[in-house]
Amino acid sequence: MRELLQHYIDGKWVDSIGGTRHAVINPATEEPCAAITLGTAADVDRAVIAAKRAFASFSQTTVAERKALLLRIVDEYKKRFADFGAVISEEMGAPISFASTAQAGSGLNYLLGTIEALDGFAWQESIPGSDAHVVHEPIGVVAAITPWNWPLNQICAKIAPCIAAGNTIILKPSEECPSNAAIFAEVLDAAGVPAGVFNLVQGDGLGVGVALTVHPDVDMVSFTGSTRAGIQIAKNAADTVKRVHQELGGKSPNLVLEDAVFADALPPTLQGVIANTGQSCIAPTRLLVPTSRKAEAEGFVRDYFAAVKVGNPADEGAHIGPVVNKAQWTKIQGLIETTIAEGATLLEGGPGLPDSVNRGYFVRPTVFADVTPDMTIFREETFGPVATITTYDGLDDGIELANRTAYGLSAVISGPPESARPVIGKLRAGLVAVNGWGGVKGGAFGGYKQSGNGREGGAFGLRDFMEVKTVAGV
Ligand code: NAD
Repeated sequence: MRELLQHYIDGKWVDSIGGTRHAVINPATEEPCAAITLGTAADVDRAVIAAKRAFASFSQTTVAERKALLLRIVDEYKKRFADFGAVISEEMGAPISFASTAQAGSGLNYLLGTIEALDGFAWQESIPGSDAHVVHEPIGVVAAITPWNWPLNQICAKIAPCIAAGNTIILKPSEECPSNAAIFAEVLDAAGVPAGVFNLVQGDGLGVGVALTVHPDVDMVSFTGSTRAGIQIAKNAADTVKRVHQELGGKSPNLVLEDAVFADALPPTLQGVIANTGQSCIAPTRLLVPTSRKAEAEGFVRDYFAAVKVGNPADEGAHIGPVVNKAQWTKIQGLIETTIAEGATLLEGGPGLPDSVNRGYFVRPTVFADVTPDMTIFREETFGPVATITTYDGLDDGIELANRTAYGLSAVISGPPESARPVIGKLRAGLVAVNGWGGVKGGAFGGYKQSGNGREGGAFGLRDFMEVKTVAGV
């Protein structure tokens, strides 16, 4: 079993001040696979002091120096791909093939997208009709609080712009999947990130997460996770008036157009519900199909889900693994039961373990038809391999149903691009993907409505991690 009991503070691996041991559970075996120490407010204090001190010099480095540092981080990161894949697979259940390609690669994309954005970034902008100008400057000490589902993706989405901007950082990764963050700290150390610029404090939300959020010397909290925790963080941060950047939950629609060719348009959009065992904030789980094509859509989606293989994450292959933990498994099972009780038609899957396994937090790939907007599953994030089909009559009705959600992280359109184009501007979401579902390297990632505030990625992400100063009289 891996023992990663120390935090990385001020350029050194250090023992916790009064923390408690925490076992990380492998969701495929239900056995412990690693241990960390849940940090304390004293650990947070020590990290914030280091980050504040380092800010004085790091904020004054040149863009060229920070770009060179990011390029060294990329080199070191690439050397650890296999290590990242192995621990992510073991701790959150992504099959090893997927963990060491898509999961490990997603972090690299944020590093590369930020480096590319640096080249064209306007650090100084003139003000029309004035001799004054504005400059973009680092915001200060940033607390990055991240989830388990795409762990390195979210870490790099925050750390890359922080280093590019000249901020200093305290990272608190998810206690469900913490080892990749420890390896990431080794990457930054090997790349020569100056002491105090990056600090890692392992811990849980109510301990380290809250201590960071309320800390008066933390200038910004960048959080990715549930809307529940995002709201609590915003409230906790209010007393110290820090910037709160939130990447939260989703309930993304897949608006299937009347003239969609299912064989072309549906596989790449249904993949978004299956990939990562449905544990993606942008998973397009709410299929909206024209009533005229209901039977055809139901058959297509049922067959697609019936062909999905569920299996051991340690094995290579294109199967899906378990969900991350017992709490998520229980929540998904409850939602499946509720959807049946509320009168939807179960087309595929259903409650319980798949036939191929007898332990682990595995979920049967599940499809429901006849789901109506008043049903719980139409509103609540599932975070499992579960798709629902709801019919619409006329495009305006389809668009209204797509937008009928408290969230607005992403929306997918399945259909010919020329038919999709007029619909894009009517969908209230931070990402609209046509015949696909993923984000774009260098694009802006973030949500409308209760999916969050702010953006990550490329130049848009860089701006969100900076202050703006007007300079007059010189
Ligand atoms: P979570 O909210 O339970 O935890 C996320 C992180 O916040 C963890 O590090 C946790 O320890 C910490 N935390 C929890 N409560 C806290 C508090 N009160 N104060 C400070 N920190 C706290 O979420 P999760 O279960 O790890 O992740 C799944 C959720 O994340 C889903 O809702 C998903 O949609 C969302 N998500 C959003 C995005 C996005 O970019 N919008 C990306 C990935 C995941």
